[in-house]
Amino acid sequence: MIVRNDEQADTLDCEVLVVGAGPSGLLTTLLLAQSGVRVILVEALPDIDDSPRAMAYGPAAVVELERAGVAQDARAVGMEPGDYNSPIRWITIDQKEIGRFGPEDKIPGTFDNVICGQYQLAEILKRHASRYENTKILFDHKIDAIDEAEGSVVATLLTSSGERKLSAKYLVGCDGGRSTVRKLLGLSYDGFTLPQWLVACNVSGYPFLDHGFTRGQFIIHPEHFCLIGKINPQGLWRVSYNEKEDLTKEEVLANVHNKFEAMFPGPKPLSKDSYKLEAVSPYRLHQRTAPSYRKGRCLLAGDAAHACSPFGGMGLTTGICDAAGVADCLVGVLRKGCPDSLLDKYAEIRKDKYDNVTHPVSYGNTCRLRDTDPEKAGELEFFKIMNSSREARQEMMKGAYVLGHDFRQYWPKVPEIQHNKEPSLAHKADPANRLVDV
Ligand SMILES: Cc1cc2nc3c(=O)[nH]c(=O)nc-3n(C[C@H](O)[C@H](O)[C@H](O)COP(=O)(O)OP(=O)(O)OC[C@H]3O[C@@H](n4cnc5c(N)ncnc54)[C@H](O)[C@@H]3O)c2cc1C
Repeated sequence: MIVRNDEQADTLDCEVLVVGAGPSGLLTTLLLAQSGVRVILVEALPDIDDSPRAMAYGPAAVVELERAGVAQDARAVGMEPGDYNSPIRWITIDQKEIGRFGPEDKIPGTFDNVICGQYQLAEILKRHASRYENTKILFDHKIDAIDEAEGSVVATLLTSSGERKLSAKYLVGCDGGRSTVRKLLGLSYDGFTLPQWLVACNVSGYPFLDHGFTRGQFIIHPEHFCLIGKINPQGLWRVSYNEKEDLTKEEVLANVHNKFEAMFPGPKPLSKDSYKLEAVSPYRLHQRTAPSYRKGRCLLAGDAAHACSPFGGMGLTTGICDAAGVADCLVGVLRKGCPDSLLDKYAEIRKDKYDNVTHPVSYGNTCRLRDTDPEKAGELEFFKIMNSSREARQEMMKGAYVLGHDFRQYWPKVPEIQHNKEPSLAHKADPANRLVDV
């Protein structure tokens, strides 16, 4: 079956304008491009942001990365074979194990977390999206205003060579926690900010594995709770820890070595020559969400819609599921004959996922690391269940898929037609990108 876009869409600059070239915006763009939708992605910065942030994406996100055809590229950057046989552990600061998910707990046919630095993941997504001629990625384009007219939305963008306007049928704000789109839509960011700083460091050269660490561990400790995990086969590790709220940013940075001294395994005192600090960035931790992920022709996804503490790897994992969801709903409306109300369903279901999965799990894991007496942590229900049996651990692991939702189930059912199953790369698509096989 062939579906033709309506004529009005042809006079617009694109069908969907995506704001923000973080992983959420890039994945939204890639999935729309693969369905033949004309999409423009605008990004305020001159290139992709390379600050040290996400590194681990849970199974629900891996499903979507697989579907977009980028999961293997991400694994190739961040993982080596031994990583699949290494447990994720919760430990005390002196390395007593409180709980673990080990390779023996893996359920056949399910996905492991994908490990890949956020910047590298974004670069991979950019590379894939750039292959589609129905896609434009414009850096140095900062959104400044949004006007909604009958049947379209017009964005005003500030560039180093002046102001420019772009029109689209729909706009997706993926412009991060400080989202201009969300603010322009008059949507709040409800919730709270945790008192601690989160300090994210990239560290190389330190032999964590030789000192008994595995590829990922959370340390439970009231003062030094942290995550220490391997980012790539070249020996880069992430050390994310908390700091006292009353420290200035300068004091936080000056205290990095003292924190490493407390948290790192191995001989003490810790020599400053035993590691290289590749990057360090202090962040504030938020548990916040917009009250709605849709207003008129504009939608929100990723951190623009919600934020959570990174202890638990839920932030971008949720953002990736949002990106897939918003892309599927837009494809449904623009290509599959679905009503516009599918976009309300997107907003409703994705917010429900934040409220009932992302927020409680991420905040729960943070509180568990911070507020538990490490010596009594094993008495927590969470660890009692984890330590009770392999079946119990597998049940816990199955929960990781709850974050996803396949919106393609709302597309009309059409009889299966024999057609080329390969991704619809631009050079194979209709030159005007207006005709799409469904
Ligand atoms: C230390 C740390 C560790 C983390 N670890 C994990 C983890 O392991 N797993 C996980 O799932 N999550 C993790 N997270 C969360 C994750 O980093 C975020 O959820 C993720 O960055 C969200 O991606 P995004 O694409 O929605 O937004 P962003 O990555 O913030 O991208 C938004 C983009 O929009 C652009 N932008 C902003 N304003 C404008 C404008 N006006 N016009 C145009 N463009 C604009 C920005 O420049 C940016 O490029 C971590 C976070 C931190 C801080």
